[in-house]
Amino acid sequence: MAPVHTYIITMEKIDIKNLSLKELGRELRELGMPAYNARQIFEWLYKKHATDFEQMTNISKQFRTVLAERFSIPVLTMHKKQAGRDRTEKYQFMLGDGATIESVLIPMGKWYTLCVSTQVGCALGCTFCLTGIKGFKRNLTVSEITGQLAAVQAENPGVPVSHIVFMGMGEPFANEDATLGAIEILTSEEGYHYSNHRVTVSTAGLVPQIRRFIAESKANLAVSLNALYDDTRTALMPINATYPLGELMAALKDYHSHRRGRITFEYVMIKGVNDGIAHAIQLAKMLKHFPFKVNLIPFNEHRGTDYERPDEEDVRAFQTYLQNHTIACMVRTTHGEEIEAACGQLGGMTIAKEDVQ
Ligand code: SF4
Repeated sequence: MAPVHTYIITMEKIDIKNLSLKELGRELRELGMPAYNARQIFEWLYKKHATDFEQMTNISKQFRTVLAERFSIPVLTMHKKQAGRDRTEKYQFMLGDGATIESVLIPMGKWYTLCVSTQVGCALGCTFCLTGIKGFKRNLTVSEITGQLAAVQAENPGVPVSHIVFMGMGEPFANEDATLGAIEILTSEEGYHYSNHRVTVSTAGLVPQIRRFIAESKANLAVSLNALYDDTRTALMPINATYPLGELMAALKDYHSHRRGRITFEYVMIKGVNDGIAHAIQLAKMLKHFPFKVNLIPFNEHRGTDYERPDEEDVRAFQTYLQNHTIACMVRTTHGEEIEAACGQLGGMTIAKEDVQ
C-alpha cells in the first residue's frame, strides 16, 4: 500500500478588523459562506464587541470553526494608563510587534472624546512636536486604529464616547488608506455608526490626501496651521516646503466648495514666533474666503524643544483681535497637561475640546 502523506499548509490568519464589509463579504464567498454573514459578523465585532468567533451564536458552528481557522480578532494590550486631574486619561497600548501607541480620553461634560493615533511616531518632523522629534516607526492598520476605541470601551464599559478625533500620534493622511478605512468602520451603519460630524481628522496639510478625503469621506477636517507665512511655517512644519500655504488654501477652498462644514484651524501659539498682533491680522485676511473657526493653543513646553509658551496677555490680545473681526476663536482648554497628554506632547496636533463641539 502506498504511503499516505499529509500536507499541512499553514497560512497566516487575517486580522478580520482590517476588512471593510465588502472585503469581508468577498472573503466569506471564497470560503463558501453566505455573504450576508458579513453583516452579522460586523454586528458582533462592532456593536456587541465579540472577541471570539464562538460568541457569534447566530452563525452555524461549522462556519464559526471555518472563521476561526481563517481569521483572528486581535485586541490591543493595555500597557499603561494615567489619569489627569481633569479626568483626562492617557492610554498606552502595546502592539503585536512591541511598538507602543497612545490614545487620550477627554471628558466633555457627561460625554467623552477619544483622540486616536494613526502611526507609531511621525515622519513629518514638526519642530514643536514631541512625536515629530522622536521620529517614525510605522503606520497603524485599520484594526489598530479602531482597536483603540474598542480597548478604551472595554476598559470603561458604558463610558459614552461621543466624538472621535484623529489627532494623536502621527499624521493621519500619511497613512491615508488605513485612516479612510478606519473612518468607514467608525461611521458605517454596520460598524460603530458614528455620525460623520462626530469624527474629525486633523492634518498638517498634505494636499493630495486632502483632495482624496474631500472625494471619499464626509468626516470633519481640521488643519494644523500654526503660521501665516511660508518661511515661518516651513521652520515649524517642514511639510510646508512640499505643500506651501498657497496650495493648501486652494485645496481648502475646494473642501468648502463641496459644501462641507466649517474647517477648524489649529494654531499653536509660540512665544516670539507667531503670537503677535501682526499674525492675527494676517490670519484674519488669509482665511476670509470660507467658514472656519480657530483654536488657539498656547504651546505646552516640553523637554524636546526650546520653544516657549506665550504670555497670557498676548494670547488674549490675539483672540480679542480675531473676535472683534467676527472670527469664531477659542483658546484651547488644556487637558491632561500633567500627564503629557496635551498638544505637542503626544501627537502634536490638538486635543482641543473646541474641535469637537
Ligand atoms: S504635529 Fe502632527 S504632523 Fe507634525 S510631527 Fe507632530 S504628529 Fe507629526
